[in-house]
Amino acid sequence: MTLDRAALLALDRAHVWHPYTPAHDDGLPPLVVARAEGARFWDVDGRSFIDANSSWWVASLGHRHPRLLAALSRQSQELTHIALGGLTHEPATLLARELVETMPGYRDTTLAADRRLARVFYSDDGSTSVEVAIKLCAQYWAQSTRAKRTRFIALSGAFHGETVGATSVGGIDAFRAVYGPLLFDVIRTPSPHDARGWERAVDAIVRELDAHRDTIAAVVVEPIVQGAAGMRVYEPAFLRAIREACDRSDTFLVADEVFTGLGRTGTFWACEHAQVVPDVLCTAKALSGALFPFAATVASERIYDGFRGGRDRAFLYGHSYCGNPLGCAVAREVLAIYREERVLDRVAAIAPKIRAAFEALAEEHPSLARPRAIGAIGAIDLGAQGYLDDKGWRVYEAALARGVYLRPLGDTVYVAPPLVIDDPTLDALLDGVTQSIREAIKR
Ligand SMILES: *Cc1c(COP(=O)(O)O)cnc(C)c1O
Repeated sequence: MTLDRAALLALDRAHVWHPYTPAHDDGLPPLVVARAEGARFWDVDGRSFIDANSSWWVASLGHRHPRLLAALSRQSQELTHIALGGLTHEPATLLARELVETMPGYRDTTLAADRRLARVFYSDDGSTSVEVAIKLCAQYWAQSTRAKRTRFIALSGAFHGETVGATSVGGIDAFRAVYGPLLFDVIRTPSPHDARGWERAVDAIVRELDAHRDTIAAVVVEPIVQGAAGMRVYEPAFLRAIREACDRSDTFLVADEVFTGLGRTGTFWACEHAQVVPDVLCTAKALSGALFPFAATVASERIYDGFRGGRDRAFLYGHSYCGNPLGCAVAREVLAIYREERVLDRVAAIAPKIRAAFEALAEEHPSLARPRAIGAIGAIDLGAQGYLDDKGWRVYEAALARGVYLRPLGDTVYVAPPLVIDDPTLDALLDGVTQSIREAIKR
């Protein structure tokens, strides 16, 4: 490193615009990070931190996994980028095949052939994977005999990314309000996490599907966990019920697995908790192992078939880096690591510890609400007032002082560490979170 901490902070203050950060931030200055490996990173002064949120949910295999670095290096010797228009290559074709083999329903011989998730459209990140899903569904219906199907149903508290289409289906008011006039109209139904019960959330969707019978293009959900809303875990039965409701009205179900996919909830895809096969599945984040952004939207044969015919029926969409060979090669290695290093077994081993830590906190402090855990996710509510409250930030500061990096979601404090975190590091992480919450609520 050529510049020291103070010099870097001065440049940062002058020029770097941070995400989700007030312009006049009077909190702690950012940590200046020099290095990361596994579940930890180090600042320029050599202080070590545990990455409790896998760097915004991407480092499920930890940082700088040696196999991923090797795959990146190998691929970079051959081909780093090429357009996917009129061209194809080994990494894109093999990854598509291997990704399809992981899809929910792949082994289900009773699944109709046209319901199989077998068509992979590559893009850049979670938001674009959702944009692709929205446009695929919209165009499918537009060129069917049911062209009035243009509207989407999405859940209260949903998060689907940052682009304008993804923000439209998103249901967190704090992220939407200011862009209101730009967003397309979505039918919003209650979160299945609602205290009044997931059945009520199903009823609302069924009612909307009935009322707007031939105008709904798709129902879009984060399966099992609404991540950004505050790690709201809901019943698999909700997902099954809306799959059935979508089938009854012959409408698509889009599963946004950008956060929940790749083992985060204990199964490879969260849809598997409900044995549900969506019509479209979005994946990104952990797919490229915290090396760089990369995404895929996997659609059913039926949807693909809707684009057959003349040139005028083609999907006129594609990002510059669509199917980037480095991304494909790294994602292939990610999938190989899950298969060969038994990553899901590791999730099963750490899940009870995470659950126990959050349940113990709730027992100790009656003011803490709704301890919840699934797979490698644990969360608790501090009982404060929504997204902009600062109680969570007091935990953030207390945790940093203990060498744990976490980010609260409003009044929810959660952990979503690398799935491959080792036992001593997990123990240190859970202990650090427990101590930090204790300290922050005492003040
Ligand atoms: C993070 C996230 C996105 C957006 O992904 P980006 O890579 O940040 O664009 C979309 N959907 C869900 C469920 C997410 O958690």
